[in-house]
Amino acid sequence: MANVLRRLPQNVPGEFFVDSSCIDCDTCSQLAPEIFRDHGEQCSVHQQPQSQAQVRLALMALVACPTGSIGSTATRNARIGVDAFPMHLAENVYFCGFTSEASFGGWSYMIQRSPEDGGNVLVDSPRYTSHLVKRIAETGGISLMFLTHKDDVADHQRFADRFGCRRIMHAADGAARLNVENVIHGTDEVQLDTDLTAIPTPGHTRGHLVLLYKNKFLFSGDHLAWSPDRETLTAFRSVAWYSWSEQTRSMEKLRRYRFEWVLPGHGDLHHDNAEAMHRHLENCVAWMNAHQ
Ligand code: SF4
Repeated sequence: MANVLRRLPQNVPGEFFVDSSCIDCDTCSQLAPEIFRDHGEQCSVHQQPQSQAQVRLALMALVACPTGSIGSTATRNARIGVDAFPMHLAENVYFCGFTSEASFGGWSYMIQRSPEDGGNVLVDSPRYTSHLVKRIAETGGISLMFLTHKDDVADHQRFADRFGCRRIMHAADGAARLNVENVIHGTDEVQLDTDLTAIPTPGHTRGHLVLLYKNKFLFSGDHLAWSPDRETLTAFRSVAWYSWSEQTRSMEKLRRYRFEWVLPGHGDLHHDNAEAMHRHLENCVAWMNAHQ
C-alpha cells in the first residue's frame, strides 16, 4: 500500500502518486505512459488522469505494480484495475498484470488455447493473487508454464501446485533445483507442439530461452525488447549477466525466425509486420556487434 507521506517530489500535484518504495521496474510507465514516466532512478506521475479511461489505466498500474508503490488520495474502486487483468493484447494472447517484486516487476503472459490445441500457456510467473488464479481457472487453467530464465520464475511453484501444470525451463538456469518437470538442454530449438517452439538464447543468463508461438508472437524474456528512444529492437548490455558476446550470437540466431510481436519480461513490447521486425532485428544485431 503506497504511503502518501512518502510521496516522491517528482509527482505532479493531484490525486495519483508514486511513493519512495518504487523499484523502477517501469511497469507503470509502459502500461500508462500518458500518466507515469521514468524520471531517472524511479517513476512518478507526470500527468494526472484526464478521463475515465486514463483513471482506469492508472488503477491498472496501481494493481500491476510489484511493490504497491502507486497510491491515490481519493476513494477509488481498485476493482476496476483488478478486473482489467489479464489484459488482452492480440488474438488469444494476454498480459497477466500483477507483476512480482521477486521478478523485479517482470511481465508474464498467457496464451489461451482450447484443450484440443494443447491448453493454456503461462509464460513466466506473475504474482500469485486470488483474482488472477480465479480468472485463469475460469479460462481453463494452465497446461504448460514456460519459464524463460531464472530471474522471472517468481511464484511458479504455487501456480504449478494449483493447476498441476508441467513447467519447461533450461537446465543451465537451474531447472532441476526448481523441480521443473521438462528440462531443455543444449542450444538447439525444441518443438514443444505444433505452434510452440522453445529457442535457447544464452546471454542474459546461461540458460535463457525465448518462446515462439505460431511464428507470430515471440516471448523474449530479458533477451530482446523494443527501444522507444532508438525506435528499434534492442538488448540490455548492462544486464548481460552471463555473456554479451554469447547474447549477440543468440540474437543472430533469431534471424532465421519470423515474428510480428516481441513480448519481453522487461522493456517495451512491440508489434509490426514480419518484414519490419526482421529489419529491426538486423539493427539490433548490428548495434550489439558494434558494442562488444
Ligand atoms: S510499477 Fe511500481 S515499482 Fe514499477 S516503476 Fe511503477 S511505481 Fe515503480
